[in-house]
This record gives sequence, structure tokens and C-alpha cells, in this order.
Amino acid sequence: MTPEDALRLLPKAELHCHFVSTMRASTLVELAARHRVPLRTDDLDALFAYEGLPDFLDVFNAAHAALTTGDEIARVAYEGVEDAVRAGNLRYREYFVNPDNFRDAGIGYTSLVDAMTDGLVQAERDFGVGFRIVAAINRSLPAATAVDLVGTVLAHPRDAVVGIGMDDLTPELTEDPLRFQEAYALAARHGLRGTAHVGETLSADPRNVADAVFGLGVERVDHGYRVVDDADVLARVGEAGVPFVCTPFSTRMLSGWGFDPGHRIARMVRAGLRVTLATDDAVFFRTDIGREYSEALPAMGLGLDDAVRIARVGFEAAWCDESQRERMLADLRGAALALSA
Ligand SMILES: [Zn+2]
Repeated sequence: MTPEDALRLLPKAELHCHFVSTMRASTLVELAARHRVPLRTDDLDALFAYEGLPDFLDVFNAAHAALTTGDEIARVAYEGVEDAVRAGNLRYREYFVNPDNFRDAGIGYTSLVDAMTDGLVQAERDFGVGFRIVAAINRSLPAATAVDLVGTVLAHPRDAVVGIGMDDLTPELTEDPLRFQEAYALAARHGLRGTAHVGETLSADPRNVADAVFGLGVERVDHGYRVVDDADVLARVGEAGVPFVCTPFSTRMLSGWGFDPGHRIARMVRAGLRVTLATDDAVFFRTDIGREYSEALPAMGLGLDDAVRIARVGFEAAWCDESQRERMLADLRGAALALSA
């Protein structure tokens, strides 16, 4: 077995993954044809080779438009798990989904999460992969829309939906986490967990990480790379033990950061932060959870011991039941022993 195989076979939890981007490429082409949604190309190799952000948004929007029924949403959910198990031994996943993005297609919040749940429950039966759903605030919409979204989640409780997150950027192209303080406070008052995309790119402010953790009270941070650029913020979040869910291939895609030992994710690991890995936009960024470990980690100078720690943080930081967590951590311990032997 090669070191890459060992990294691929390690059991993994993925906590930062946008539902629509787990759609199998061939399924996207098929559903787009069925619903007469134009794609930039039908060539599977070329479909995800973007010249710039507009190309990506083209595909991203087409994927939403191509999902029009509960059966289609459930199928995408199921296939996404099947593919990730094969690619990187996925054992547990949390999905971000922006209900506001499905409104144009006429799919309401409960139809959306119930259809996702149908597919994910079936996948859990067949592949043993646990899951939870996180409703994501689309930051390009007003703060009041975020409060409405939390209200909708609270009005329709579902066991699978355990928290809220926040992605995209504000209309001013900033992260500005504190703009959404009211939505996060409402969610926390009613027992929903919180996470947020902050500190992602060079244009983001490192202080956004501190604002999300200490201002919004999030339990986890998505991305957060700029934290290593501010010693004070780094020390404070390190002390707080906040887990960071980092996505290597997406940093290369969106920020052009090469994989080397100076990569901010490697620096976060070396600084002792609790880091785990995920795909962000798996299929649409031409990555999978296996590659995030087997390709990105060695190129950043990190080995199997680091990978085991990174995988462990994924299970520790998952918003699942405690019994499920214990089981998954025990499986990881066994696999880590076997793979290092
Ligand atoms: Zn993301």
C-alpha cells in the first residue's frame, strides 16, 4: 500500500460541503437535458474547467435549476455519498444547503430538506455514512432574510437539521459576519448550532474569524485561513479550541494558493489549531474527500500522523449523537493502527 492509499483509506468526516456541488457530473448533464437547462458544455471534462468565477456560477446556477423534484434531490444526495465513500472512505458528512437558492425552482424549505433526508437515509442504510444538514445563510441577501431563514428552520423542526452556517459574500463583497448577529442569536436561543465561512481569501480580514467566534458565538469556523496572519486572533481562537474546517483544493481554485509547507492550512496545523479537511464544492471543484487528504496533505508537508489527527477532529467536531461519535472514533483508531502497520 502506498502512503497515498493509506491517506485515502483513512475513515473521514466531512463537515464543509455544499449539497448541490456533490452532484455527480453525469447526473447534472442528464437532469439539465431533461429540464432544458442550458449548460456551458456537455463535455464532462470541460464542464468544470472554469475560466473565471462567471463560469463557475453558470454551472452552480444551472445545477439548482436542474433540480426540480424531490426524487431528483434524493437521487443527488444518495449518489454523492456513494461517490465519496469510493473516493475517500467517507463515514459522516454535514451538508450546507441554501434554501433561498431553491426558491426560483419552486422548492420550499421542507420539501428540500425532506428530499435530501430521504436520499441520505437510504445512503446511510447502504453505506453506513451518517449525516446532518446545516441551513446556510446566503450573505448576498439582506440580514433580515437570514433572520427569516432561521425562523423557517425553527418553525419546521427536523432531526437532521442541526444548525446554521453562512456562505457567499455580502453585496459589497465582504464577509462581515456581525451583519448577521440577529440571525445567529435567534438560532442559538433555540438550540441550533452555528458555524460561518470567514477569513477565507486574501481580501478577507483576519478579525472576521474573531468576530465569528466571539461575536456570533459560532462553534466551528469554515476556512478561517487568515487567522495565521494575526497573532492576537490566532492566540485567542487557539486557546478557545475552535475547530477549523479547511478545504485545500478550494483555496487553490479561488485564491491560487499552491500546496506547499507554507500554505496557511499547514501553518494552522503547525500552530496547534484543531483543523479538519473537507471538499467545499466537491464535484464542481473537481476534487473529492480522498484527494484532499492523499494529494493536498503530502504536498503541504503533512504525513499520516497529521492526517489521523485531522480526521479525528472531523469526528470530534461533528454535530452528531455522542454514541455515533464514539463508534466513529473507535473505527478511526482501528483503521489508523492498521494503516500505519
Ligand atoms: Zn464553503
